[in-house]
Amino acid sequence: MLDQGSINAEAIAYSLDLFEKGHGRAGESQKDYQPAVRDQGFRRAIQRLQPSCALCGIRMLTPDGHTAVDAAHIVPWSESRNDAITNGMALCRLCHWTFDEGMIGVGDDYRVITSGLLARETNVPGFLLTLTGRPIIAPGDRELWPARDAPAWHRKKLRLRP
Ligand SMILES: [Zn+2]
Repeated sequence: MLDQGSINAEAIAYSLDLFEKGHGRAGESQKDYQPAVRDQGFRRAIQRLQPSCALCGIRMLTPDGHTAVDAAHIVPWSESRNDAITNGMALCRLCHWTFDEGMIGVGDDYRVITSGLLARETNVPGFLLTLTGRPIIAPGDRELWPARDAPAWHRKKLRLRP
């Protein structure tokens, strides 16, 4: 087992590795890293790329620069073994949850899609519906945008009942 200092150091190396050669090639970037290193490295890479939520745009930073956005896998790690930046999005906790639950997604045109379930679900904040059709907030570098097949995979899981 690595101590925390070593995990942190390896996670930094891993996140840099993802920036250098992690552009959408499933499996290539995982190497033999421990899960704790991978998790932290992927989070660092996505959060460095984008401090605000890709879907709703919320940006929460602590005074010392920590962000509240999660680093979400578009195709879950359990399915894809893919930590490529192009399989990731910075999402706030609410958008992360609704995304994982299949109530919100991203279209081929990189615009937000929402499920009819959202409109009926009184426990979900209504402002999420206002995101429908809005362009996602993507990284400045087009090469680091979500790979087209990742949101396409996720859309099959969307519960898009009208
Ligand atoms: Zn959000």
